[in-house]
Amino acid sequence: MAPRRSVDAPSERPQVLIVGAGPTGLVAAIELRRRGIECRLIERRSGPTDTSRAITIHARTMEILDDMGIAERFLHAGVHNEGYRFHFRGSDLEPRLDYTRLPTRFPFVCMFNQNETEKILRDHLERDLGLAIEWETELTDIAEEAGGALRATLRVGGAGGREESVSPEWTLACDGLHSPTREALGIKYEGMEYEGLVMQMMDCELRNFDGADTLLHYFISQDTFLMIGRLEGPNHRVLVSSQGDVDEIAKSDLITPIVSADLPEVELGEPVWKTTWEIWIRKAERYRQGRVFLCGEAGHIHSVAGGQGWNVSMQDAYNLVWKLALVIEGRAHESLLDSYEAEREPVSQQVIEGSSAIHEIIMSHGHGLEDRMALTQTEGWNDQAVARISGLSYNYRGIATLPPGCNTDAVPAIGDRVPDVEISPHLRLHHLLAHTRHTLLIVLDTVDPAPLDDARALCDDLLARYPATLRAELIAPRVPHPWPGILPIGDPDGRVASTLDTLPGGELILVRPDGYIGCRAALGAGASLAKHLESYLIAD
Ligand SMILES: Cc1cc2nc3c(=O)[nH]c(=O)nc-3n(C[C@H](O)[C@H](O)[C@H](O)COP(=O)(O)OP(=O)(O)OC[C@H]3O[C@@H](n4cnc5c(N)ncnc54)[C@H](O)[C@@H]3O)c2cc1C
Repeated sequence: MAPRRSVDAPSERPQVLIVGAGPTGLVAAIELRRRGIECRLIERRSGPTDTSRAITIHARTMEILDDMGIAERFLHAGVHNEGYRFHFRGSDLEPRLDYTRLPTRFPFVCMFNQNETEKILRDHLERDLGLAIEWETELTDIAEEAGGALRATLRVGGAGGREESVSPEWTLACDGLHSPTREALGIKYEGMEYEGLVMQMMDCELRNFDGADTLLHYFISQDTFLMIGRLEGPNHRVLVSSQGDVDEIAKSDLITPIVSADLPEVELGEPVWKTTWEIWIRKAERYRQGRVFLCGEAGHIHSVAGGQGWNVSMQDAYNLVWKLALVIEGRAHESLLDSYEAEREPVSQQVIEGSSAIHEIIMSHGHGLEDRMALTQTEGWNDQAVARISGLSYNYRGIATLPPGCNTDAVPAIGDRVPDVEISPHLRLHHLLAHTRHTLLIVLDTVDPAPLDDARALCDDLLARYPATLRAELIAPRVPHPWPGILPIGDPDGRVASTLDTLPGGELILVRPDGYIGCRAALGAGASLAKHLESYLIAD
């Protein structure tokens, strides 16, 4: 881990100003502090919120929390849901989205309230990484000055508080749907409405609900939708939607009549939290303006169907921060930052499409149930939907320009998440990636030393050029001849080689700090991988 900087007084010129301490801002701050970058995290609220909001943590998010070293806290307290069951009124057909076969250490949806999620993230940030959130500190304006430098105006201490002017090197707008940062920069946020569609939800105890299973239940009728999911503790999340006027519905009770119609035997307890809202699709016209980046809901919002909101939001920050940290440290060219929008905009488009596909089945009120049910019977529906909602299938294929000689035929492809592999009961492939640098996997399927000599010379050279940015792992069926500086890992069954589908003789696979494959090349074609690294890293 990079050395920590002093975190005494808030700097007037922080390396990074993060606006908003929701889940996206917290993850951005954790990732920056893990790398020793000096940042300020400001939040206009006066303290933590206790509203539950997001309740679903998907598999890819769990893998990222694992990389941060805090997944066990979520695993310990959350409910592990095996998937979703769809109940169409008047039909015995009960299609399911089954998470249990997902190729991950976390083949489930972890049900965990957002206020508790934020509590764990805050605790890790403040206690382990030494950064205090600046509460009641609001960004009121931000502007680019000559040369692209930033000048931000903050109001500290709420209405009537003092004004502070800061000049951050970079700013991350993690300030949510209404993003004042995005507004101040005049970046458009456009999309579509689900005309007249209103959601109402509450968390409460349920009597006579057979909630013993670990599934999220969707009850679908022609004009209404009801979701029930078990939360940690005594409560369930009960969420409904229908057509109507949001202000009128907010004053009334939409939930009780829908629950009575779908599940007459169920009695609702007193809500611990209840809210009514409308949903939209929106996307910012760009995710970067000069030295400001939009992350999370500041950049995109979509239907709640499938519950991907905070998951995809925090993954924006996870994609951006390693790049930004390398640029700040002078270890990468600034052009690396262009890949943030190039990679994340297509993902948010896929999230919009994926959530809209589920939305069409569960919430296209007024449309016939037969047609909606038929959508769940199409070939590959389960696997495609689960891979998307879990976040495991989102990838950055075809975005980087690669030098000739790279292995562009294999799957997992360049741009894919590295799959996890159990090398032994005590070691998984993802364990080898749980640090903040790039990892060069040298995967051999032979102990023939001949091709190894060239590869060794190249890898030693790369490690000498990028000592703070790169580490190498040598994985082989049997431990090959000595390689000073690298502790070889025995993989007698060749599990890594077969999962990564490496070329005969072995392969060099570059894994980025966020766990995606940056490049791969045959042992004898390592020069192409070196060229790829040179395209964005700066040698020591
Ligand atoms: C009822 C409900 C249920 C949901 N269920 C799910 C679910 O099951 N699964 C899921 O994945 N998602 C769900 N979501 C969506 C999820 O809550 C959001 O996707 C997530 O909160 C987005 O995180 P964010 O950090 O980008 O934005 P936010 O959480 O909105 O955080 C932005 C922060 O910025 C602060 N801020 C704003 N302006 C300023 C300023 N000028 N200066 C300083 N600070 C500022 C705000 O106070 C806020 O704390 C749900 C949302 C709702 C409302």
